[in-house]
Amino acid sequence: MSGEVHTACPYCGVGCGVLARLEGGKVHVRGDPEHPSNFGRLCSKGSALGETMALDGRLLFPEIKGQRASWDTALDLVAQRFTQAVRDHGPDSVGFYVSGQLLTEDYYVANKLLKGFIGTANIDTNSRLCMASSVAGHKRAFGEDIVPVSYEDLEQADLVVLVGSNLAWCHPVLHQRLLAAREKRGTKVVVIDPRRSASAEDADLHLAIRPGSDVLLFNGLLAHLAASGVTNPAYIAAHTTGFDAALALAQADAPDRSRVAKGCDVHPADLARFYAWFEQTPRTVTVYSQGVNQSAHGTDKVNAILNCHIVTGRIGREGAGPFSVTGQPNAMGGREVGGLANQLAAHMGFAAPELDRVSRFWNAPNLARTPGLKAVNLFEAARAGRLKALWIMGTNPAVSMPDAGRVREALGRCDFVVVSDVTRTDTTRHADVLLPAAAWGEKDGTVTNSERRISRQRAFVPLPGECRPDWAILSDVARRMGFAAAFPYRSRAEIFREHAALTAFENDGERLLDLGALSDLADADYEAMAPVQWPVRRGAQPGGRLLATRFAHPDGLARLVPVRQEGPARPVDGDYPIALNSGRLRDQWHTMTRTGLVPRLMSHAPEPVLDLARREAQGFGLETGDLVQVESAFGQALARLRVSDAQRPGEAFLPMHWSGLFAARAGAGAVSNPATDALSGQPELKHVPVRITQA
Ligand code: SF4
Repeated sequence: MSGEVHTACPYCGVGCGVLARLEGGKVHVRGDPEHPSNFGRLCSKGSALGETMALDGRLLFPEIKGQRASWDTALDLVAQRFTQAVRDHGPDSVGFYVSGQLLTEDYYVANKLLKGFIGTANIDTNSRLCMASSVAGHKRAFGEDIVPVSYEDLEQADLVVLVGSNLAWCHPVLHQRLLAAREKRGTKVVVIDPRRSASAEDADLHLAIRPGSDVLLFNGLLAHLAASGVTNPAYIAAHTTGFDAALALAQADAPDRSRVAKGCDVHPADLARFYAWFEQTPRTVTVYSQGVNQSAHGTDKVNAILNCHIVTGRIGREGAGPFSVTGQPNAMGGREVGGLANQLAAHMGFAAPELDRVSRFWNAPNLARTPGLKAVNLFEAARAGRLKALWIMGTNPAVSMPDAGRVREALGRCDFVVVSDVTRTDTTRHADVLLPAAAWGEKDGTVTNSERRISRQRAFVPLPGECRPDWAILSDVARRMGFAAAFPYRSRAEIFREHAALTAFENDGERLLDLGALSDLADADYEAMAPVQWPVRRGAQPGGRLLATRFAHPDGLARLVPVRQEGPARPVDGDYPIALNSGRLRDQWHTMTRTGLVPRLMSHAPEPVLDLARREAQGFGLETGDLVQVESAFGQALARLRVSDAQRPGEAFLPMHWSGLFAARAGAGAVSNPATDALSGQPELKHVPVRITQA
């Protein structure tokens, strides 16, 4: 249809291609049939995108302390206060908290400004809450944060194992692709999730494991694979290291199957069936998501899964591999440019040769030398008065962070808070300076989805009011802080070329993230860029499966990591006897600032509902429809109760979406535990001990 723009959905990590057009003052969207990630499909959220474009509630002008200000005045103040904080208290007294909603170009400029020129690595992203444990697990096993498979592998697999992933609701189009393939080839689907989710309803086998017992389950599988002779000795010898230690700990942790069944609290016959299917199916893809990552032991859970794929050589091959699916549209792009506090840029870390390389590339002698504060610690530093200036971009931590009440306190105590966003949120209430950012449909740049595919998000409506793209706002502040030579950008294409060039700079193949062939794209080619899967090396075919035989550790070998089953950071007890799980609903996105505007999306779940196991509901004298208070050691939430047989006894589930804007304090963030994984810094959002009482 004429006038349609090829763009990408701004919600989940599937990264569907969207055709959008503005006609008669209305935005119309449909799935892009040419996009290789979705081939024209969209889910309920994506197909309602056109109904979320109203300007009601949009931030249209800069504000200082709630009063409208000019861009010059606002940006002068931001630059002056950040400069002053650095001068008086050092570079580590400032920080950025950014978002998987940012485009890669925005992320790149934010990271370069803070790490390269202000000289601190205190930039972290809300992706920390989403997939940081997968990043840490990938780096341990593979030597680099690599997702080795593509969506088509799901369609070529004979067994798909979903671990801690409600794919049907959280990555709906990928789930549709899986179901369509299953119709054709009879793919078996196993769901491992304490909750009987929509994905579990559809599965051939659902293992409703005890929350957090994933390491035991996969250690038991590793021991079973070794005992069954399915491990691949030639492959292990040629391409891995650490097998004996990993197997020994797995065998000690899971000495026999009955111990595993008891520890995971699943029926022995179901466990045996899962192990047998995995053992007998070379084409196995294991999809893992927030149910694995959001844990104080998330990195170990990831490595327990990776171990089973590596020892069988089921990685980087058609229809086989471990597959971390990301929650946000550009969590991967953020990882690629260094949007996490413990990464530098272009998949490099803080080792001396990498610091030297990035410092020379950016001409940045003041480059941060050590990792910065991860999300939970960043807000703790603000609360403790150590962080003097904080800039939050495109995210709502006052609701979405664990122990959100403490985060609101932190924002209240920080000397200077800047928020750039598209609408007012609980977080914008704390802003000294509020900057109106460009929204989806107005901004333009690139995103990378869960299968490493880079797509263009394109503008198709004019910028409203005085809104500006994040990369332009950041570049203006950088120039005002005295870094004009390093931030000359006048277009997003310039930024993308520089990012691509950095991935290829002195990269002889040791880093798989290589976009060298895109580093000299003409502006017109950038504008017309079709979706492309990385690596995009000069002189090589782009994309494809990775890590079949060569890994990114210096010796080229994968690491098999010994892991041990551990309990939750805070077990249930007499005061807080219920284990609270949290997650997404089918039709909502994050804190609902966009999807909450669409009546037909709201009708799926018009209010926050707590699903509570029948046994406890009866024990507490509660019935479906009761208004209940959910209380943890960290905060309270209000919700409507639903007695549920989808919950294991002793467990409950609360959606993550609601905030003070839509209901009395009810988001799962209000009660969540800020305990984090020691390696990844990812909070334990999936297991919070609570008590539930009639409100
Ligand atoms: Fe958007 Fe994800 Fe739905 Fe695709 S599956 S339309 S990316 S929300």
